[in-house]
Amino acid sequence: MALLDTMGRPVRDLRISVTDRCNFRCTYCMPKEIFNRDYEFLARELLLSFEEIERITRVFVGFGVEKVRLTGGEPLLRRGIEELIANLRTIDGLRDLTLTTNGSLLSRKAEDLAAAGLDRVTVSLDSLDEATFQAMNDVGFTVAEVLGGIDAAAAAGLDPVKINMVVKRGVNDDSILPIAEYFRHTGHIVRFIEFMDVGATNGWRLDDVVPAGDVVKMVNEVWPVEPADANYEGEVAQRWRYVDGAGEFGVITSVTQPFCGSCSRARLSAEGKLFTCLFATAGTDLRASLRSGASDAELEALLRGVWEARTDRYSEVRSEATVDLPKVEMSYIGG
Ligand code: SAM
Ligand code: SF4
Ligand code: SF4
Repeated sequence: MALLDTMGRPVRDLRISVTDRCNFRCTYCMPKEIFNRDYEFLARELLLSFEEIERITRVFVGFGVEKVRLTGGEPLLRRGIEELIANLRTIDGLRDLTLTTNGSLLSRKAEDLAAAGLDRVTVSLDSLDEATFQAMNDVGFTVAEVLGGIDAAAAAGLDPVKINMVVKRGVNDDSILPIAEYFRHTGHIVRFIEFMDVGATNGWRLDDVVPAGDVVKMVNEVWPVEPADANYEGEVAQRWRYVDGAGEFGVITSVTQPFCGSCSRARLSAEGKLFTCLFATAGTDLRASLRSGASDAELEALLRGVWEARTDRYSEVRSEATVDLPKVEMSYIGG
């Protein structure tokens, strides 16, 4: 049952936020001034249960979703996440089951995640410099612990590991080359991400964005690179290969070269709201339908209606006016 939105885009990719909580306070995502003791995170009973997540995922896979990514907040904080992974693994047609994590709990959990059926992980790491990294995560978490988590993931077979680095001008742009160098020859794939105006709390300014084109130029001056083809249609990262055979890296150009035209992602928040764009201001409440006894056919009709009405192309129309919209936070909607 092919499903297309108003711009002819299929749904291929589902990102599921399993919690809005996190043990980091990355300044670009959950700044401490907002996400402090007074902040009201979702109460437990408001979170989708694993059964509810599985049910929604099955419908999406029926509509053509092949890739599911668990995220958050910090997904490894959700108790029993291995059980959810094992349940999702049983869905026929789901090709790729992955998870994005800050790496803090990975050393402890990598083997169990792999045993439950997770295919790969993406680990966020914004700098190899201790002072820079700790200033960015804002909770004193060390680089060494994250690197240990990456090694544990690779040892458990959750590879190739992808490493997400959000680049912020004047904050960690001097970490681009060290990160590139560290992960050359490892088989892991670094992705340099343009700092985005997600949510409404991170004080985003265009001046803070280092264009991905500049990142590629910087790397190319030290280790020549050439473009590599996308692995699949709708791949978000632009791939670059080191000419000397040391591997590849990617850039995610959401700000300077938007890719809405091929965006095939749906996002499910931890409390069961369905969003069709990272920059949305409102979502569709699936939990209410599930908990009022919706049948599979009703759930299918609801999801079909939402996707078929989809018009999102925020990054293509971003302007000073849109930056100030009351968009939902990344920690809530899931990165
Ligand atoms: N806590 C996990 C982590 O940090 O990997 C998963 C959730 S996090 C929201 C997912 C990804 O979004 C991370 O790689 C993070 O660096 C990225 N991210 C968060 N805020 C961002 C922003 N304002 N611009 C670009 N990327 C951002
Ligand atoms: Fe937490 Fe990830 Fe957001 Fe950092 S980017 S605050 S680790 S959810
Ligand atoms: Fe997709 Fe929205 Fe990002 Fe465009 S702005 S690529 S529609 S998530």
